[in-house]
Amino acid sequence: MFRNLKYVKSLQRPLIRVLHIKSPLQSSSSLKGIVSSVKSNVELPREVPYIIDGQNYRYKEGSIYHGFLCERIEPIADFGLMSCTLRHLGTGTEFWHLDSRDIQNVFSIHFRTKPLDSSGLPHVLEHLVLCGSKNWPVRDLFFKMIIRSVATFTNAMTGPDYTMYHFSSKNEIDFRNMQQVYLDAVFRPNLLFMDFLQEGWRLEHKNIHDQNSDIVIKGVVYNEMIGSFGDNSRFFKQKMLNYLLPNNSYGHIATGTQLEIPNVEHEDLIKYHRKYYHPSNARIFSYGSFDMKKTLEFIDKEYLSHYDRIDTSFSSTPSEDRWSKPRYASIQGRPDSSINLDHQNRVGIAMLMCDVTDIQENFELKVLSELLFRGPNSPFHKSMIKPNFSGGYTKWTGYLPTCRDTYFNVGLQDVADDDVELFEVLFDDTVYKASREGFDSKHVEAILSALELLRKQQSEYKRLLYKSTVLWNHDGDVVSNLRISDMFETLRDRLKNNPKYFEQKIEKYFINNKHKLTITMRPNEFHEIERQQAEAKLILRKLEGTSDQDFEKIYENGLKLEAFQKAPQNIEVLPCLSINDVQKPFPRPQINELTLRGVSTMINHEPIAGITYLKCMFNTTGLSLNDAILLPLFCRVFSEMGSSNHDHRQFDNLLLSKMARVECTAKIVENVTDCKTYRLGLLMKTYALDKNVCDMFRICEDLLLNFQFEDTELLKILIRNYISKLKLEVKKTGDLHAMLCSSALVTNAAQLKSLLSGVDHIHYMKKYVKENSIEAIRDSLKSIGSKIFSRSNLRVAINTSENNVFNVLGDYERFLTHLPTIKQTVDSKEIFLLEPSFRYYNIDMPISFCAKTFFAVPYAHEDHPALRVLAKFLTSKYLWPVVREKNGAYGAGARIGFDGLFNVHSYRDPNAAKTMDIFDKTYEWLQTHRDKLDEQSLFEAKLAALQLVDWPISAGEVGLDSFVLGATYDIYLQYRSRVLAVTLDDVQNIIEKYYRNEPKHFGKCILGPKSKVIEVKEMFKDVNVKV
Ligand SMILES: [Zn+2]
Repeated sequence: MFRNLKYVKSLQRPLIRVLHIKSPLQSSSSLKGIVSSVKSNVELPREVPYIIDGQNYRYKEGSIYHGFLCERIEPIADFGLMSCTLRHLGTGTEFWHLDSRDIQNVFSIHFRTKPLDSSGLPHVLEHLVLCGSKNWPVRDLFFKMIIRSVATFTNAMTGPDYTMYHFSSKNEIDFRNMQQVYLDAVFRPNLLFMDFLQEGWRLEHKNIHDQNSDIVIKGVVYNEMIGSFGDNSRFFKQKMLNYLLPNNSYGHIATGTQLEIPNVEHEDLIKYHRKYYHPSNARIFSYGSFDMKKTLEFIDKEYLSHYDRIDTSFSSTPSEDRWSKPRYASIQGRPDSSINLDHQNRVGIAMLMCDVTDIQENFELKVLSELLFRGPNSPFHKSMIKPNFSGGYTKWTGYLPTCRDTYFNVGLQDVADDDVELFEVLFDDTVYKASREGFDSKHVEAILSALELLRKQQSEYKRLLYKSTVLWNHDGDVVSNLRISDMFETLRDRLKNNPKYFEQKIEKYFINNKHKLTITMRPNEFHEIERQQAEAKLILRKLEGTSDQDFEKIYENGLKLEAFQKAPQNIEVLPCLSINDVQKPFPRPQINELTLRGVSTMINHEPIAGITYLKCMFNTTGLSLNDAILLPLFCRVFSEMGSSNHDHRQFDNLLLSKMARVECTAKIVENVTDCKTYRLGLLMKTYALDKNVCDMFRICEDLLLNFQFEDTELLKILIRNYISKLKLEVKKTGDLHAMLCSSALVTNAAQLKSLLSGVDHIHYMKKYVKENSIEAIRDSLKSIGSKIFSRSNLRVAINTSENNVFNVLGDYERFLTHLPTIKQTVDSKEIFLLEPSFRYYNIDMPISFCAKTFFAVPYAHEDHPALRVLAKFLTSKYLWPVVREKNGAYGAGARIGFDGLFNVHSYRDPNAAKTMDIFDKTYEWLQTHRDKLDEQSLFEAKLAALQLVDWPISAGEVGLDSFVLGATYDIYLQYRSRVLAVTLDDVQNIIEKYYRNEPKHFGKCILGPKSKVIEVKEMFKDVNVKV
């Protein structure tokens, strides 16, 4: 499971990296004129293929580099990389380097960590490894390191049978620093008992200073898993895996369950670490342009040369024995109070497929899976989604190559009791029919084209690692697995030679496959009560036979842990960048702005490998409030209903065969310079291969001019699925929703955001759908479309390669010519501030999400960078230690957005009321802990703020922030230099200015369980608590 460090680093994608040049060319003359002015000298391409003949390559097969034998060197043309595979002679450790010219460099080390039960031992160990090591004896190493680095990504994760530690950075000094810390952490962790109590589990007095108070059970991982499995989607997927592959690693839960985590003992961790974190059981990966030999030298000298080789067969997971007949499982989930209990079933079927190391088969099964379930032309969509008896597919429906044996699964959520049985019949009928009738050739071609396009677009560094980890873990051929073009070619050949190819695959893997699991999850209305009772019993069991001495130990450990957490740490021992090591700002990108057919257009020529990206922003600020609230639904359905020229099925095939799906979102954007006005817009994004750009514009034109909502049956399905998905979002990103809610209490623009995407939106939409006929909804959506798709409301951004600009502009101009011109009457609306208030929302989770927001200053204001630095300081020195470490929340932090709103928030929080109090006492804490704000902590906060400002972006997204938010590259530069220039005095002044007095405009919000309402009301007697 991912340790969700986004709460430390950043909650949002970085706000602004403005990439914008004003070209002198403001109005169009001739197309040729435009093209010649758009062309310019691009400096270093982002994705220069890096394919070198083995003879001339700097590393050679058979050579030994610092104790590593280079076994295999091969170019990977699909990704423009050279692959070097090495093995350490002493320990057998595998090392894989993907050599590229990318300045993003990635490093990862992973161990095979087979779970032996569901106590979550590998997961607790993952946490403990990051609590300090021999060279770096610092608690919460990970977090302490993040704030001393400009890493672009850092994470650790416990998979079903492996544990991985990985990071990326563009700065070589930083990269080496992080490498030193990671390697020492995994090979020489301290694994202290106190850290075990904090991270794993412990019994403790409710009031640790009162020996007569009740005994409770606590621990970071313990709480994390209660929260994690509080999410029905996750729990369903986990149990499906456990039942489908019961005999080996996957029959257990590597991350642990609430009731079994307390079976882990401290000594077990130490023993497990010794055995499983041995170099022979490790696989090390690096990617990028930094010198591989330096990495090898360091690893060999500091670590591997001190070990012998061991036999690691103990850690491999064998293939599952195939079943002779299908099996059934039934589990219980958390109820959702917003819908009838008899309509909340989840049902799914999972079928075991092939060995993950069979690369070509794996690839073909992935294609087959897409053919079977994705989009309106697929058989499962026709048989299960079209009849509209559920809330749509369950999350993770499809092909999952995440274990030794891969599997396919399809599931439905929000199914009525009476329809549960129907599911299996439908499943069998569907696969039987597909095995007889096969697939329409247009459908096959569309899916293959879509996958090829996706592959081209996803040649991103992190994905290469994720794509390879499971396969590597089971000794698969990771290098061949990246030769995607070969796999496509082989498949196309096979399809040509055998027209029944997929039918035979269905026969083999679906009709004749007895390894089939049908799993049902029914809601249990007593779920939470039973969970609490089980916890109480667990505590009693743990206390059974406890002597007076043991009780004394519990009391003592509580006090010791508190002292341990409070003890000052010497984090100075950790490596840290200096301000001189911080990289330069982003180079000024090559963007030209021009006006074509009256439409303001940004042409950004990025050296992108054969793909053109299109973004259209329609200003919709003039919509009435009722229409505006429906805009997100409009965005969700309008590209899925086809056009008057092509019904939705034809349209889907057409689209997939030529371009990426059209993605639409409603955007509310505050003016970044003064925050006095905002705009509402509809952002439409898509992309296509350069050769298909003409078709891309034609298809977009067809959609914008001829969209249709006449098929009300289809509309009903899309709406039902939309509502089901919305509910799931809250549980996944509860902290973001809490911030949306608290922000909504501060400005009218944020209020509208909450109505368009927050909990308020869900409430509104549920009611709206109940109270309005499908015909009325259809008419409303139609009328929205007729108001917004106009050239007069449009701005466009196109990212393409330089040599493609001429073609693109010709097609683009034709596209514009056909769009109507309906003048938008409202350009922007005024922002006003609201009176302070507090809201509590019930959600069906055992834990809470809290937020407090106040209005500070606009993004371009000179105080904004210092406030961002303060937010980072508060996160690391106040909120993280107090709300997470002491108060038991899984995450906490502070941030300021481009909307000028300053937020503090907590994530999966067991003590919401206490956290709100901590938020309120920020100034008090800042006063009494003035010593914490010193040069080093200021520098760390500045680095963290810079990480946000300089966040890497993909070629297709360059200029997006500028396009959407309307800020300039110069503002970015100014913002960045202001961050670097912030002094201690600046921060003190900011604290006095914004924190001394309670702000005039603030909002507080908790999303939490019903059971906590009374407690909260009690706590905030003087505030108007609205539930
Ligand atoms: Zn965890």
